[in-house]
Amino acid sequence: MRSLTGLSMSIQNLCLSLFSNSKKGESVNLYEIKGVYKSYNSKEKPPVYAAFNINLTIKKGEVLGLVGESGCGKSTLAKMLLKLEQPTRGRIIFKQQDITDYSFKQMRKIRSSMQMIFQGTANAFNPYFTVEQIISEPLNNYSREAKELKKKKVVEIMERVGLNKTYLTRYGHEMSGGQRQRVGIARALILNPEFVVCDEAVSSIDYALKNQILSLLTDLKRQFGFTYLFISHDLSAVNKICDRVVVMYLGNIVEIIPHINEQVQHPYTKALLAATLIPNPHQREKNRVLFREGEGLKLPERGCIFQNRCLYAQSICLTDQPALMSKNDEYYVACHLCHNH
Ligand code: SF4
Repeated sequence: MRSLTGLSMSIQNLCLSLFSNSKKGESVNLYEIKGVYKSYNSKEKPPVYAAFNINLTIKKGEVLGLVGESGCGKSTLAKMLLKLEQPTRGRIIFKQQDITDYSFKQMRKIRSSMQMIFQGTANAFNPYFTVEQIISEPLNNYSREAKELKKKKVVEIMERVGLNKTYLTRYGHEMSGGQRQRVGIARALILNPEFVVCDEAVSSIDYALKNQILSLLTDLKRQFGFTYLFISHDLSAVNKICDRVVVMYLGNIVEIIPHINEQVQHPYTKALLAATLIPNPHQREKNRVLFREGEGLKLPERGCIFQNRCLYAQSICLTDQPALMSKNDEYYVACHLCHNH
């Protein structure tokens, strides 16, 4: 089993210094995630890590993308930031407050600052609720304002997301997928949060609608200064909206980059890219990394976590876990091969 001491602690300390802001006043961190682990234990099997020594900052006002295959830990990380899951170890700092061990009561004071836009809003809504009831639900939970004032706020946020007030009395099943998505966005934003997790917010919708929703999210961010964590399998959407992208594999961050394009270096990110983005078939073939069959997603006991699927694995990859190292201010990668180039 992987040791959580020694090497990983020194990597953690290295990463902490890498991710702290180098120039004072350059940007404000909304979140600092320090050496965060999340493991699930069972008696028969070794622990499964959904997050392994995550060190990351989220800057105020940025859109941070989070990509990787299903089960790589993206949603778990988001839930830990929202305090819907508790880290096994490590610290989560929100607006310079260490919220890691905050109680439910303590969280209630800041909960309205953090909201989530869910995937598949068709099923997320109570079928007996009207649009007004759906959008006003967070207000009812966190605000004691008069009913008329709440309704005014609901109408205002609806207008901001492109829904007029004639929709107030409609039910979820009476609207299109795009309209429901807008209702979901309105509900997440009505408390004027600082941090919004968009979890597959544009998946399962057509191209035109996806572009509309992405433009809407971008406009709202410009107007109100939201910070988004944008989780998606859709790399084109990620490139369109995000300022930085974090690539996760088996609970580990393997690369941090401004965009997912031909500049990516980690073999896993290249494979993700090859599977989706590049329109030119010749270039796509060049970038292609054919995953090895066999061990698949099983976490190796030592060395690089991607070694079982990587065609470029060398002897060092079987013994030493590569640290997440800086190539420049905006770019980090965890790969022995990339560190040597
Ligand atoms: Fe592949 Fe080795 Fe790089 Fe891991 S460290 S991604 S095994 S080349």
